[in-house]
Amino acid sequence: MQFSGQILKMCTQNGKPIQYYMTLGSDLIMMNQLIGKKLSIRHTGYQCVCCDRDEKLYRMGYCKKCFFESPYASDTIIRPELSTAHLGIGERDLEVEKSIQLRPHIVYLAYTGYVKVGVTRESQIPTRWIDQGATFALPIARTDNRYEAGMIEVALKEHLSDKTNWRKMLEDDFEDDLDLKDFRDKIRGYFPEDFQNFYSMEHEMERLDYPYEAPEKITSVTLEKNPEFRGTLTGIKGQYLSFEGGFFINVRAHEGYVINLEVSHL
Ligand SMILES: [Zn+2]
Repeated sequence: MQFSGQILKMCTQNGKPIQYYMTLGSDLIMMNQLIGKKLSIRHTGYQCVCCDRDEKLYRMGYCKKCFFESPYASDTIIRPELSTAHLGIGERDLEVEKSIQLRPHIVYLAYTGYVKVGVTRESQIPTRWIDQGATFALPIARTDNRYEAGMIEVALKEHLSDKTNWRKMLEDDFEDDLDLKDFRDKIRGYFPEDFQNFYSMEHEMERLDYPYEAPEKITSVTLEKNPEFRGTLTGIKGQYLSFEGGFFINVRAHEGYVINLEVSHL
């Protein structure tokens, strides 16, 4: 089997285990079915996720021009607390920013090797958690817009990390009896005063189950340095493909790369 096209992050479906799908060209590939098979990946070009041009990528799958112009790559995507659409103030394109920011958002705790805090649109749950490779997750606040969630996150990240350490995430160590509700109760006092009303105790902790077992050592591979990569797929966690020998490809970091993918049944 052979496929070719532009890499975008894998789509997922929550389940036991989580199901992963990759679209390449006009093909939808069920990635879980490729576990145990030998893949050969060849980098053939680039395609910006925004303008489609074959141009060297700058960040997040965008060429440099699009990264600095697209409302989908603006500062508020990374830093929700900078959001201004609720004030009617646009950054790059007010209509797009309204459609992203003026929706219910969730502040959550997630365990990705340690407990971290994060923000996402309510409609992105559990997708966002799966993309990060969280083993456990618990919503702790629901807000009306992105700005409010961002302000809560800013206050909480004085006490908790807001970053995912990919290596720790892939090591996949966790205590079975970890309860994020204990952490939620502990950090309640750190909610900013004006946003206390968003604190929520109504959610249950979710446990996510990946088709993955951690190898002994972890080595990250990029198509930039290895334009022809071959390996047997052994599992998937977050947006990382795990290959025999402990080699990993971060699919998300390769958005916009154009590849040929060959699957052999051996
Ligand atoms: Zn572009």
